[in-house]
Amino acid sequence: MIFLKTEDEIELMRKANLLVGRTLAEIGKIIKPGVTTKQLDKLADEFIRDNGAIPTFKGFPNPYGPAFPASICTSVNEQVVHGIPTDEPLKDGDIVSVDCGTLLDGFNGDSCYTFMVGEVSDEVKELLRVTKESLYLGIENAAAGKRIGDIGYAVQQHCEKHGFGVVREFVGHGIGKEMHEDPAVPNYGRRGNGTMMKNGLCIAIEPMITMGTREVCMLPDKWTIITRDRKPAAHFEHTIAIHHGKPDILSSFEEIEKLGV
Ligand code: MG
Ligand code: MG
Repeated sequence: MIFLKTEDEIELMRKANLLVGRTLAEIGKIIKPGVTTKQLDKLADEFIRDNGAIPTFKGFPNPYGPAFPASICTSVNEQVVHGIPTDEPLKDGDIVSVDCGTLLDGFNGDSCYTFMVGEVSDEVKELLRVTKESLYLGIENAAAGKRIGDIGYAVQQHCEKHGFGVVREFVGHGIGKEMHEDPAVPNYGRRGNGTMMKNGLCIAIEPMITMGTREVCMLPDKWTIITRDRKPAAHFEHTIAIHHGKPDILSSFEEIEKLGV
């Protein structure tokens, strides 16, 4: 069931999502070789709570095993999504996707950014650039009267044109009072297919793009998803609303991009 949001609800969604953007920017400020993902998690947890919100990922249930133990997902290199923060220091040349969710005044924020650690290879930079571009191409297609398949089509075309893989097993989603609502928003699809979008629809669009094969597998921790060929993967996510017929990006990379990361 799809819950369309009122104007007031969209503004509450914006607050929760802007807090995610600010949290990711705080993380961006301290990311460098030698920092551990557990340090990033601690910073995020404190920042979110200091701003009156709850980190929604902490304790998130898992049908296959234990609840998620941290306040952000940190997926390093071949890890695609749902990586668990560790005491392992990040190394020069790594990439880390930091996915963050907040619950503020009853509404959810959800956004992810893939950061570079120190100096990254040109090949990996290209993966990050194309993945981020595909997110915005997907967003351009999120408008009243268009269909969910138009988003996936735009993301998939762009990434595959550059020879990258589009993960099928994990998808974007509706978002609101619950972090995951209907409809599912795949990063692949056919134009003109799927649910028609209307004003008030809030969705998270989140391409998960691989340098090599699009096949993924789950680590024994029952959370971390890695590429089968162990090549790197990137993940960028915005939460958006269909607002006055057009996509309105509720989360923000503005503070992050000011850092030049
Ligand atoms: Mg997310
Ligand atoms: Mg999401």
